[in-house]
Amino acid sequence: MKILDVLTEYGARSLDRTFSYLYLGEREIAPRYRVKIDFNGHLAMGFVLAVHETAKSKAQLTEENGYEFKEIKPEDIIDEEPLIDEKMFELAKKVSDYYFAPLISVIQAMLPLSLSPKLAALHGPKIAYEKWVELISSDESDLTDKQIEALRLIAMNAPILKKEVGSPSILEKLVQKGRVRVIKKEKQRFQIPPEEREEPHEMTILQRKAYNEILESPKNVVLLQGVTGSGKTEVYLRLSEKVLSEGKTVLMLVPEINLTPAMVEYFSRRFGPKVAILHSELTPGERYDEYRRIANGKAQIVVGARSAVFAPLKNIGLIILDEEHVESYKQDNAPYYHAREVAIMRGEEENCKVLLGSATPSLETKARAFRGVYGYAEMNQRINEKALPKTTILDLTDRKNFNRNSEKLSAPLQEKIKEKLDHHEQILLLINRRGYWTGVNCPKCGHIFTCPNCGGNLTYHAEDNMLKCHHCGFVQRYPSECPDCGNTRLRRIGYGTERVVKELNELFPAARVARMDSDVGKVSKNVEKVIKDFHDGKYDILVGTQMIAKGHDFPNVTLSAVVLADIGLSLPTYRASERTFELIAQAVGRSGRSIKTGEAMIQTYNPDHYAIRFGAKQDYETFFRYEMNQRKIAQYPPYTYLVLLEFNSKNETKAIEASYDFKKELEMQEIESLSTVGPIVPYYSLNNGKYKRILLLKFKKQEEVLQYLKAALPRFNGLSGVDITVNVDPLDY
Ligand code: ADP
Ligand code: ZN
Repeated sequence: MKILDVLTEYGARSLDRTFSYLYLGEREIAPRYRVKIDFNGHLAMGFVLAVHETAKSKAQLTEENGYEFKEIKPEDIIDEEPLIDEKMFELAKKVSDYYFAPLISVIQAMLPLSLSPKLAALHGPKIAYEKWVELISSDESDLTDKQIEALRLIAMNAPILKKEVGSPSILEKLVQKGRVRVIKKEKQRFQIPPEEREEPHEMTILQRKAYNEILESPKNVVLLQGVTGSGKTEVYLRLSEKVLSEGKTVLMLVPEINLTPAMVEYFSRRFGPKVAILHSELTPGERYDEYRRIANGKAQIVVGARSAVFAPLKNIGLIILDEEHVESYKQDNAPYYHAREVAIMRGEEENCKVLLGSATPSLETKARAFRGVYGYAEMNQRINEKALPKTTILDLTDRKNFNRNSEKLSAPLQEKIKEKLDHHEQILLLINRRGYWTGVNCPKCGHIFTCPNCGGNLTYHAEDNMLKCHHCGFVQRYPSECPDCGNTRLRRIGYGTERVVKELNELFPAARVARMDSDVGKVSKNVEKVIKDFHDGKYDILVGTQMIAKGHDFPNVTLSAVVLADIGLSLPTYRASERTFELIAQAVGRSGRSIKTGEAMIQTYNPDHYAIRFGAKQDYETFFRYEMNQRKIAQYPPYTYLVLLEFNSKNETKAIEASYDFKKELEMQEIESLSTVGPIVPYYSLNNGKYKRILLLKFKKQEEVLQYLKAALPRFNGLSGVDITVNVDPLDY
């Protein structure tokens, strides 16, 4: 008889432990298999962590434990081999440990639905098959004319899909007469469109130097800092080529789904069908197929966004994170993992190089490279050897910068746009806020339209006449009157992408204007289309959020403007300056990437702010030193570690009490270097309608704090009606 230690599919912290089940069957069972279990009278999915033989009888075990172990039957075993291999399991444990996330929730995050350790997997897509016809002999003797016709068709195209052969009865006869056979093959529900193969560029001297430095670096993690347009992608491709030639595999991560198509194109031009894609926008069936293609070793390169860091590649030789500074690498719900940190953990597990690429590295990464924890390579010139764009900062507080035509686009910017339009050159306009008006309120009674789920401001979208919450996705129809006092003259404030497009249409009626933000990007095919059309010159101006600032290579763009650079500066996060700097530097970097020299314009209410000044000049090094100093003074990362605790409850008093109790107990520990901020009411004051209080822990020495949290969290989570979430290395606050 065997005792199985089983994790249940439930990701609650209080259930983050194994439960014992008995197994008497003959059918093979081993760690990392899924089994159906009876959990508190409900059918649930379990994930086996360990299998022990026992000589004891069932009665003895019941006696010892005080209760009866439930039994698992052979038909409850789902898998015929371990769901994930040992390395991936070790990785899951590391991630679970580091992020205080229940192990099962990490394993679930790693796998496509059909393979996930949850009951819902049983209803997930199955492997799809299709039938093919293969030729055995093209001998035409004793066949009818119709049969000969079919046989010739098959002979010319074999193997051919069965449904393309035509009459099933004729095919049946050909099978009987031993000319052909029908076989079943797995069907691939997703296929990367084949690209024409492309000969690689000759590497420039700088690229070759960086390439060698990365390969020769004694460090496993290397930062490649290359200014925008310096040709980092070519370096990724060359390194991948090298790694593949050694029989190893490559994991290529991009920060956002909408950047995958471009990267996939680069890789499939170079490497053809070796490339697989993995991201959350594939249908569950497609994702399952791609996953198996990778797991079976049929694809050696995986391109994907955040969750692709868990791609089941074996024998990884290189992990690359492009634009490593981008914050969408961090998942903003549990388990709150950061793909960069997970990539580094995976790199340790696989003993392979991890390459972090960026023009504007995150402070954390740069600081580690600076201290020699990471290796470092640099490319400080653009491929075209053009100077970086000439950048003008426009002060929005200075009325002289405006004419009567617009309150949003300054006179010098209007003029510059006109000039570029006249020259048939393209323009990028960045406004990092989508929608039309960014807030609606009632001037009579003071009512502010906020989200009932999370407490944030609602934005008006003209496209569908809706108020939307950009934090949680809540939508409601735009009301014609104030719900409190009935006033019909509502005040609308702020503006976003939709409004800027309207303004441009009025100012430049002949210009072809496209918009790109996550509303357009809800369907990622739309993103691809807009990007491609803009690339092909079907539009003159592209207005968008940060989505247009990253990654893309538009050779004909010679003006890149930030319409309102200050948006990020007022956000409640220690990273406000870093975000603003990055956004501006990236936006400026989109201009003048080909033959023509580029220009950039930055409109701002804070023309003297260091993030804006250094961003406009793309002066990363000076910004880095300045901002490091700010962080040191304020004791924020990379000088400290942060953990953000959220106390959620339907009952506000309970949330408040739990947060204060936690703080009090934590302070009694007298842990060196630990300080707490809060409890405070966060900007998004509700969590799915529950009340929320947050407590931020700042500390320098991880060991003691993490140990305490490990012990205390399960205890506090047991408190009735309060749910505590833990966000390690939060990017906000
Ligand atoms: P980055 O990612 O560093 O901003 P890209 O990788 O997009 O830069 O490269 C910028 C441009 O330079 C692209 O159009 C690319 O095709 C081109 N390029 C890159 N390497 C070379 C090379 N060795 N020779 C010629 N063109 C190159
Ligand atoms: Zn909301």
